[in-house]
Parts: sequence; structure tokens; C-alpha cells
Amino acid sequence: MSACDTTCSGLAPPHVRAIARYLPGKPIAELARELGLNEADIVKLASNENPLGPSPLALAAAQDALYDMALYPDGAGFALKAKLAAKLGIAADQLVLGNGSNDVLDMAARAFLTAGTSAVYAQYAFAVYPIATQTAGAQGIAVAAKDYGHDLAAMRAAIRDDTRVLWIANPNNPTGTFLPWAEIEAFLETVPPHVLVVLDEAYGEYLPPAARCDTTAWLARFPNLLITRTFSKAYGLAGLRVGYGLGSAAIIDLLNRVRHPFNVNAPALAAAEAALDDTEFLERSYALNTAGMAQLVAGLADLNIEIVPSKGNFLLAKVGDAARINTELLKRGIIVRPVANYGLPEFLRVSVGLAGQNARFLDALKACL
Ligand SMILES: *Cc1c(COP(=O)(O)O)cnc(C)c1O
Repeated sequence: MSACDTTCSGLAPPHVRAIARYLPGKPIAELARELGLNEADIVKLASNENPLGPSPLALAAAQDALYDMALYPDGAGFALKAKLAAKLGIAADQLVLGNGSNDVLDMAARAFLTAGTSAVYAQYAFAVYPIATQTAGAQGIAVAAKDYGHDLAAMRAAIRDDTRVLWIANPNNPTGTFLPWAEIEAFLETVPPHVLVVLDEAYGEYLPPAARCDTTAWLARFPNLLITRTFSKAYGLAGLRVGYGLGSAAIIDLLNRVRHPFNVNAPALAAAEAALDDTEFLERSYALNTAGMAQLVAGLADLNIEIVPSKGNFLLAKVGDAARINTELLKRGIIVRPVANYGLPEFLRVSVGLAGQNARFLDALKACL
């Protein structure tokens, strides 16, 4: 044990020592090392990544941007913000860019939360909400889930005078649950103005057209609303880390004060801009997900495995002893995501992959049940 193990950990304040750290999906290279497997034979359906890879336009733009790697990126992200603003019909000063949308979530926590305040989130909500809340020294208020999703009435009732942030993901990760937008809109009408509502739309692009909603139009009515979106999922840029937040100019100004300078790197900015133009890629990603989700749902039904219906690019499968099944799947080169850390020890979260990957997962699962 180094000297630091015994002394430094005691130097961190209790709210930091109490944080349960984020558990990412197992990297392919790590499993290959551990089991002596060929990386090409491993199927990773653990991090809700786009199985198509990136858009070719985004890849080319990122490659071009590499030539300028000696230069700092545009810290204001002018070009990407201009393009997003035009596409979304909002002003550029209503946009903040993040190193992934996680970065924007963290900015919101650092700008609005401190010791003596609280933040409300749902049981089974995205793990980053409690982490960002605790990092800022605020108290997290976890509200019991309803059918694995957000119970908005209970979340409204949980708001206190000291509450400054309320986190909602729609669809939610890891459960895939979805609330009709009209319910969220009605909820926003009831949230007091001292609470910033963070509406995380990381999976918005996977919603069927009939379930989509132009939530940016709400920004004019709800000055305490911050919407976050990402290029990590349907746009296929998870490895580059780029996302964004949309809100009133006043909220965005606050986030920019706590934002790290140059938080989004140049290849990420360039790739995100190009990805916005590749609507064909986005449509292919959506179509592939719809087909792959149907394949997983049918395959799991054949195995008599209960699922939580999902509107994302992943689903929760109730496999029973998920720790054991996960170990068995890993031995067969299949990486999915255990969610015991979310309080869901009977479930595995499975990302939708290519048809062949989904089939390999289903076959492997059948073999280890
Ligand atoms: C994947 C995900 C994000 C996006 O993370 P990035 O930092 O943009 O890669 C945000 N919120 C939820 C709920 C997610 O599942």
C-alpha cells in the first residue's frame, strides 16, 4: 500500500468518498487479454454504441482535422454551434458544447449545485446524475421508480426548497423506459422556478417518428429547462466525446462559466458537423436499431425471458442470476452490461447490435441459461 492509500483518501471530503464510481462496459481489448480471445471474435453489446460505426462523412472530417492537432480547437465551437442553431431554430447563445453530453450534465451540477442544496432523480436513472450531484457536494434525492421509469408525480412531490436540479432522461438508461412528451410538458408547468430541469435526450434519435417531439420549442416557455443531446449514440461518435446542451441564454451563460476551456477537441467538432449533414446515415442507424430491437425482443420471448420494453438502442433482460449469466456470456466472447450497481441484480442490459451480433448473443444466452 502506498502512503497515499492511507493518508490521501482521508483528505477527500466525505461526499467524495461516498461516491460509487461509474462502471463502464468492459472494453473488447480487456476481455481479449483476459481470456486469450481474438478481438475480432468478441461481440460487445454493452455501451449502447452504434454498431454501424461512424458516418463516413464524419470519419473523413475528423481525419482532416487531425492535421491541425498542434493548434487548440475553437474553444467556442463557433461552426458546430452555428450549424446546430440553424438546424434547431434557436440562437447560438442558447447552445453549449460538451466533451460528451456527460460533460454538460456535470457543468449543470457544478453551476447549480453546492453543499446545502439537493437534486432529484429517479431510482434506476442514469448513474451520472447521482455522481454529478454528489461531486458538487449536494444531496441526491432518489425517487422510487414506477414500472422501472420516472414517477413524475412523486418526483414533483420530492422537490424541496433547497432543490436546484431535477434530472430526467427520456428515454431512460439503463431501463429504456419512455414517458409521453405531453406528460413531461405538463410536469414542467408544475416545477417551481428555483429548480433547473435537465432533460437528457441521449436516445431521442431512436424514437419512432410518432413518439418524437420538438422539445426545443419548449425553451421559450420554460426558462428553467436544460435539454442535453449527444453525438455518441445514433450519430456513432462515442469515442470522440461530443454532445451539447440547449437552454435559455442565461442558463447557457452560467454553464460556460464553469466549462473547461477547449473542452471539445478539433476532430470531434469537425466530425459532429459532418455527421449532422449525413441524414442518410442517421436513417440507416434508426432502421437498423428498429430491426435489431425486434430481433432481440422476439429472441428473448422465445427463451421465455422477461424484458422491460425499451425505446432506446438497448433493453433490459431479466435473466435471473445475472452475475452468473454474465460470466458465462463473457466466456463465450459476449460483453453485455450487468446492472446490479443500479439495484437491478436480475437484469442484464443488452445494446442492439448488427443482426449477426444479436444472433450470437441470443445463441450464447440460450446455451448458458
Ligand atoms: C449514453 C448516455 C449519455 C451520453 O453520454 P455522452 O457523454 O454524450 O457520451 C447521456 N445520458 C444518458 C442517459 C446516456 O445513456
